[in-house]
Amino acid sequence: MRGNWSVTRLSWASSANAWPNRMPRAGFVLDGFPRNIPQAESLDVVLADLEKPLDRVVLMDVDFDILLKRITGRRSCADCKRVYNVHTSPPKEEGVCDVCGGELTQRADDNEETVSNRLRVYESETAPLVAFYEERGLLQVVDADAGIDEVCERIESVLR
Ligand SMILES: [Zn+2]
Repeated sequence: MRGNWSVTRLSWASSANAWPNRMPRAGFVLDGFPRNIPQAESLDVVLADLEKPLDRVVLMDVDFDILLKRITGRRSCADCKRVYNVHTSPPKEEGVCDVCGGELTQRADDNEETVSNRLRVYESETAPLVAFYEERGLLQVVDADAGIDEVCERIESVLR
């Protein structure tokens, strides 16, 4: 992402107790969390203790078919880790990294079956969060059917 973001990785399961010490003063972004209602309710309790309630919740909205293409088309360089997509940002030569000539590989869980399973979990567990945060007036929906730079700009504009 653009701008001066500093990244601190916090794991909910193992280190929620450590959050008060590690939480940046200026603010924070939780990426891909919470993923279900019980987590969201626990998060509310932790953030209330810290006196840092959520300001916004961003939903990156994208069609299922586009999402499927993005995930199943993803390839990454085994050497320099650069990420490609065979549909939207392919390498010049198939299977070969433009930057370092390394071999491009697909993550084992980026196949259609696994993605479909993940989407089922999303529908049953994560989708209810939309109403949960909408009722609290926190939800911002960003149309994520665009390039990375454009989506970053859209997200930053709702966070300002
Ligand atoms: Zn490479």
